Order: sequence, then C-alpha cells, then structure tokens
Amino acid sequence: MDVNYLRISLVDRCNFRCTYCMPTGAEFDYLHRAELLSYEELLRLVEEVFLPLGIDRFRLTGGEPLLRRGIVGFVRALCALPGVADVSMTTNGYLLEELAGDLYAAGLRRINISLDSLDAAVFRQITGRDHWHKVWRGIQTAYQTGFDPLKLNVVVLPGVNDREVPDLAALTVERNWHVRFIEFMPVGNTDYFDAAGWVASETLRQRIRERFGLGAGTCFGNGPADVFQIPGARGTVGFISQMSECFCERCNRVRLSADGWLRPCLLNEADQVDLKHPLRAGVSPQQLRATVAELLACKPEINFKERDRGTTGGYARTMSQIGG
Ligand code: SAM
Ligand code: SF4
Repeated sequence: MDVNYLRISLVDRCNFRCTYCMPTGAEFDYLHRAELLSYEELLRLVEEVFLPLGIDRFRLTGGEPLLRRGIVGFVRALCALPGVADVSMTTNGYLLEELAGDLYAAGLRRINISLDSLDAAVFRQITGRDHWHKVWRGIQTAYQTGFDPLKLNVVVLPGVNDREVPDLAALTVERNWHVRFIEFMPVGNTDYFDAAGWVASETLRQRIRERFGLGAGTCFGNGPADVFQIPGARGTVGFISQMSECFCERCNRVRLSADGWLRPCLLNEADQVDLKHPLRAGVSPQQLRATVAELLACKPEINFKERDRGTTGGYARTMSQIGG
C-alpha cells in the first residue's frame, strides 16, 4: 500500500486528561517551545520532503492541536501549498466554538472531534474535565460552519461508555455526522488498559444491528475504518478495530511527532527517525527525502504486527505525545 498520508502532531500538551490516553496522575515533561518543529520547519518538510515523495494528505493532531498558538495561520499556509491534496484535524473540540469559523476560512474542511459520551458526568469521568457542554457547542458550531465530513471519535471503554454505543450511533440518523468507534489500545495508559480491557467492534456492531438493523457489510471508504450506514441515516458509523483485526495491509499513513520524529507505525518506536536535528543542521532536502524514502520502503515490515513480536521498542510515549 502506498503511503500518502501523514499525521502531524503539533504539540504534546493537552488541556484534557483522558483516562485512556494519559497515565493516571502523571506529571508530564512537556516539550519546550524550541523542541517543537516550528511552523516554518513543518512547511519546509511538507514542501521539500513529503510532497515530493507522494505524501499529500495531512492530519493535524496532538496533544490538543488547537492549543498551539498561531494554528489558524499555519492551517492557511498548509492548505495553500501547491500539491497539498487534503488537510484535516483531530481535536478534543474544546476551542472549536471560538475557532471553527477561522479554521474554515483558512481552508480546513475535514474535522474529527473526540466525543466519548453523551452524558456530561461520564464525559468528566473519562476526560477529567467538566467540559461536555462546551465541547458539544463546539461540535454544533463546526457543523453549522459547514465542516464536511464532521466525524466524532469514540474510544469505547468497557463498563464506562460502551452502553452508550447505540445512542452515539443514533447521532448519524438525523445529521450528516460520522461516528467512529475506536477499540481501546494499550497505548498511553497501559495500567488502565490491563484493568479495563476492550470491546471488539463486532460486539458493538451487533448491539447497533439489534437497535437499527445496521446494513451488514456495507463497507466503504478507505483507511482503517470499516464504515456502515444505519438504514435511512444521513451519516455513517465506522469501526476502527486495531485490536480485533489487523489492518496493517491497508495502512497508508506515517506519523510525525511534535519534536520531529517520524514513525512508520503508531506502535513502532524502534524504527522512528529524527528529522528535526538533521533539518536544523542543514542537511539537504535530497538527503532528508532519502531518509524518509528508506523508512517508507520498510513500512510493511515494521508495523503494528510487530507488537506481538515485542520488537517495537516499547510504548514509552502516550498517544498525546506520539500524536494520535
Ligand atoms: N486531542 C485530540 C483529540 O482528543 O481528539 C487529538 C489527539 S488524540 C491523542 C487523537 C485520538 O487518539 C483521539 O480520538 C483519541 O480518542 C485517540 N486515543 C488516544 N488514546 C487512545 C487509546 N489508548 N486507544 C485508542 N484511541 C486512543
Ligand atoms: Fe488530550 Fe486528546 Fe489525549 Fe484526550 S485523547 S488527553 S483530548 S490528547
């Protein structure tokens, strides 16, 4: 599978403390400003390294990408680069009420917002913050602004929000929203993962079928999600099943951390390469392209499957640090 998609983490900081993403009670050593790739450096990498290698789709993530100062200007500059085919963002939605209009005007059209519950108390339990209403207003603002597709990401946690799955799926009936249920992964808070476990997508599909008669097997779209539609619905329901199914063969993405490490797979730390220091040391774009091309060429061998072989170098970083 050709790699044409890069997830760019803009910042490792976050204003939420999602239980599945961050270790309980952890104090983080956040990156200092100077350690982050600057917007200028990111644009140079996109223009001189990634685009020439055929990577022309970009997702901005974090940490919480909207916390990074100057984000709107960066989105505008990235969207304006000739050859950029697609720019999207994953956000917790906290700042969308304020920023959705500016982001849209800057050229952003596709947005994924994390919303793990429809219940403000459960939301607080999961995110550590009492912000359900603000996030919900942010989602409404983004929808009214015209973001399309508007996707909602739900990490399914057994005994916490799994009973809400049919209600969350129901959001797609009246609105052109796309809800994505993500299997909980042992990244970030592995203690919690070991204690809580995870729910397989097939179990969720069964629950949704019981309520709505989900069109079985109507799978479309590309990327890791299996996408279905509730009969008559305007939006879709998708399942990202990295625990119960291996989708490495159709994985088209690589990830760049906020401090400039490019990794071939979310779970592969051992084979990541540093782009920031060579860039700052004046290494030529040709050489940087050669480094990245080498990583891309090995990608099929160094992906998620390595997890089971224990060769990924451990999961020392949380999702917020890698860029989920
Ligand atoms: N802060 C933004 C947000 O929450 O949408 C963007 C970064 S967050 C790390 C990106 C995605 O990773 C979110 O949809 C989040 O739910 C997901 N995620 C984080 N930790 C996870 C885990 N252990 N298992 C599965 N998904 C996880
Ligand atoms: Fe922050 Fe997103 Fe991680 Fe939640 S999932 S702690 S919002 S980075």
